[in-house]
Amino acid sequence: MTDSTIPSSSVVNVRGGARYDVIVIGAGGVGSAAAYHCARDGKDVLLLEQFTVGHTRGSSHGGSRIIRYTHDKLDHASQMPATFDLWFELERESGASLLTMTGGLYFAPENEPWLTKALQVLQTLDFPHRILVGEELQRAHPQFNLPAGWIGVEQEHSGILAASRAVAVMVSQAVRHGASVRELAAVAGIAPEWEGAVVRLETGETFSADRVIVCAGPWASRFLDKLVEFPVPLRVTPQQVAYFPVQDAAAFAVGRFPLFISTHEPHFYGFPIHERPGTIKIALENEGHSANPDDPRQVDQALLNQLTTIVGEFMRGVGPTPVHVEPCLYTETPTRDFIIDRHPDYPQILFGAGFSGRGFKHTIAVGRLLADLAQSDAGVYASPFWRESYRINRFVPVST
Ligand SMILES: Cc1cc2nc3c(=O)[nH]c(=O)nc-3n(C[C@H](O)[C@H](O)[C@H](O)COP(=O)(O)OP(=O)(O)OC[C@H]3O[C@@H](n4cnc5c(N)ncnc54)[C@H](O)[C@@H]3O)c2cc1C
Repeated sequence: MTDSTIPSSSVVNVRGGARYDVIVIGAGGVGSAAAYHCARDGKDVLLLEQFTVGHTRGSSHGGSRIIRYTHDKLDHASQMPATFDLWFELERESGASLLTMTGGLYFAPENEPWLTKALQVLQTLDFPHRILVGEELQRAHPQFNLPAGWIGVEQEHSGILAASRAVAVMVSQAVRHGASVRELAAVAGIAPEWEGAVVRLETGETFSADRVIVCAGPWASRFLDKLVEFPVPLRVTPQQVAYFPVQDAAAFAVGRFPLFISTHEPHFYGFPIHERPGTIKIALENEGHSANPDDPRQVDQALLNQLTTIVGEFMRGVGPTPVHVEPCLYTETPTRDFIIDRHPDYPQILFGAGFSGRGFKHTIAVGRLLADLAQSDAGVYASPFWRESYRINRFVPVST
């Protein structure tokens, strides 16, 4: 474990062959949130992680993830106030600081579809925002060099979530509420039973539970392919973030410089100085080649060169050579809509998968939703965080 907030006694209480109310597979953002909520609800929970909590081979490590009200879909934007509340509640309950509010700047050429939809959503939900153009945009944000005809949208409910710390805190809070955690516990298979399911580790050890929640991130297909009758399309792509030095640290500090997203191609985004003094984190999404999650992580030099060119073109006062690059993985469905649902035939098995490049902010709410689904009958979707777009049955082939 990597965070001092986790008590050293957290990898304990694991009873070989024992029966639990809920077994959660995967201690990334989603699994740790599911374990936290189930344990907080009084369930007897076992959380199994193939590596160690806080490892850097999945999708949830690192010091920062964007959290924002600004979305192009009403469905997502409308649940953000409640999602923020869950993060605030976790901060209060744990005493840990997880959120840094920075304000956000979202920019693109005028009439760009994503930002146009996001503006409509901000207006519909009456979320405060300010539209800036031309000279006014340039004056307010001199750290950017945006082409003529681009607009900027400022939205204050935007901030940074400390990702690795959030995972550590959710696991430690799950333990505080009685959960057991087993690290270096790679799950080899799940066998549904008449009631509940048996989880078998690669070592041959087995555990059983009334409910099993699979939150395996980039490894999710290993479970879905074996357990679900129809193909569930998930693509894993290698991504990376880079830390660029800035000339004037004060101009890029929280309070002076917002987090930002170019919603126009090429999609790049970045943060004020937060994790590494004197540097800002900027990233460009890889929408190209896919990866095997078991392969070693490597820096993609071509993508980095592309990002360096973008930084030179769009930013002022930012040095051209990153001082650090950090690889990470996305796992995406074709529409980037998440999969959060019960197994179609074995409702005692649940899945949380395909959280793409925007899932971290939602993890605390996804964990709440998975806990709600795990504790209700098959076919019941009574949770404030349920959305129709999450259904796994959307991949059932349409017969002609
Ligand atoms: C570079 C980058 C930038 C991002 N930026 C943002 C952002 O700004 N805002 C935002 O909201 N989101 C962002 N995201 C997305 C977000 O981080 C992910 O959607 C989220 O972390 C996914 O969490 P997860 O729990 O599904 O996957 P993971 O964190 O990968 O967790 C899955 C876990 O399951 C474990 N596991 C897998 N198989 C087994 C097995 N057989 N047995 C036991 N354990 C197993 C794995 O070891 C892993 O720990 C970003 C992602 C990346 C990579």
